[in-house]
Amino acid sequence: MNDPKHHETLDPENWDEMRQLAHRIVDDALDYIQSTAERPAWQAVPKEVIERLESPAPGEPTDPVAVYEEYREIIQPYTMHTAHPRFWAWYMGSGTVFGALGELLAATLNPNLGGGNHAAPLVEKQVIGWIRKMMGFPENASGLLTSGGSMANFTALTVARNTNCGYDARREGVRSAPGPLTVYASTEVHSCHQKAIETLGLGTAGLRKIAVSDDYTLDLEALASRVAADREAGMIPFCVVATAGTINTGAIDDMNAIADFCQSEGLWFHVDGAIGSVAVLADNVRDLFAGMERADSIALDLHKWMHIPFEAGCVLVRDASLHYDSFALVPEYLHREADDGGMASGSLWFSDYGLQLTRQFRALKVWMSIKEHGLARFGRMMARNVEQARYLGKLIENTDGLELTAPIGLDIVCFRYNPGGLDTEELNRLNKVLLVRLQESGVAAPSYTTLNGVYCLRVAISNHRSRFEDFDLLISEVLRIGGLSK
Ligand SMILES: *Cc1c(COP(=O)(O)O)cnc(C)c1O
Repeated sequence: MNDPKHHETLDPENWDEMRQLAHRIVDDALDYIQSTAERPAWQAVPKEVIERLESPAPGEPTDPVAVYEEYREIIQPYTMHTAHPRFWAWYMGSGTVFGALGELLAATLNPNLGGGNHAAPLVEKQVIGWIRKMMGFPENASGLLTSGGSMANFTALTVARNTNCGYDARREGVRSAPGPLTVYASTEVHSCHQKAIETLGLGTAGLRKIAVSDDYTLDLEALASRVAADREAGMIPFCVVATAGTINTGAIDDMNAIADFCQSEGLWFHVDGAIGSVAVLADNVRDLFAGMERADSIALDLHKWMHIPFEAGCVLVRDASLHYDSFALVPEYLHREADDGGMASGSLWFSDYGLQLTRQFRALKVWMSIKEHGLARFGRMMARNVEQARYLGKLIENTDGLELTAPIGLDIVCFRYNPGGLDTEELNRLNKVLLVRLQESGVAAPSYTTLNGVYCLRVAISNHRSRFEDFDLLISEVLRIGGLSK
């Protein structure tokens, strides 16, 4: 009994030293964010660092100060610096300082958001209520915070499949389907839908990709004829996915037209609003989303244009009972006493609305960030990004040797360097090299895509720290690297 190992815990061996280190970490963290613009937007991970990150787990303790020093040396400099004002790759948020502190507090309390009778689920409920109102969904709609858009879309598609295929698909499975179950979306739909539909047992062919118009939005005539042909062939169409801001070009499908079509055809109307739906907060684009509020379900991301630190997404389902019926399952070890007190009482069990049982307190960083800034400020940040995209578009149009490769949707600009006299293959190669050089320069970090065989640089401006001058710098750097600058 006198063996100190009997009293061993995972608490700090020396609380004073840990406290000192914790203060230093918070100071350094704020310094990191405040001074990100002074460092490269990206830098490659050196070989030596890669090797060190392959070492085996230690069997014995290491001093936390040494662990933190190692983090500063080999991890911090070589990550994705989403906080940088010229980080415009894929489509990410830039994070918020207070949101990061929210993560710290959530991990400190460490509650389990599967549910129960404590304050944390009330916070998640409140946050979902705020989002539901933003989206114009009815009071009694249900919702769940998710890891991101992929899980939000997966959750909604599961409800659609279980609900709208004409039989009890949750219990009987896809093998009892009266015909192949099919979902419809444009060719520009995000890849997470294909993964979701494959995981739901419908197979890759269960996702019917419909052609787009010149503006990269879903072609409604093509949709109608494909659904009709599929019905003819004995398939069971049950859902259309409309995208509010496509990943390639930020295109927004015609929400009202798709809602009308779904209504007349008895199809579930799901909106993938991972990128754009939160832009209902932005005055200069709000109208583009008209009709989205008619959806049966919406998936959206809070870690993209709302800048909540990763991960944070949300799914809303208009009919809460359908959502519950898709995921509720209460084994005896999770049995709850109605409302007669205790930690398991109450009805706030988020585990009844998704795949996860144990869930993190991601609602706290959202709650703190929205309270700190207010929704209107988030809207202004988005509206400015849209203006910046238009500004960058003008710069490109007015610059010899550069050309836009797609219409600008929301805050996404696709363009390429084209000095003239080269064919598509040569231009694709040239632009690939140019992008890598640009990223390696550390000046800016856009990404790329290929549109109709044309490789292009893609600038996704979901960044609350970007200034208009940052786009002037981008253009001059592209020209310099392209060899055109004087
Ligand atoms: C990013 C994105 C997703 C996937 O969301 P994650 O948060 O990355 O899981 C889905 N749809 C669209 C349109 C997206 O842009």
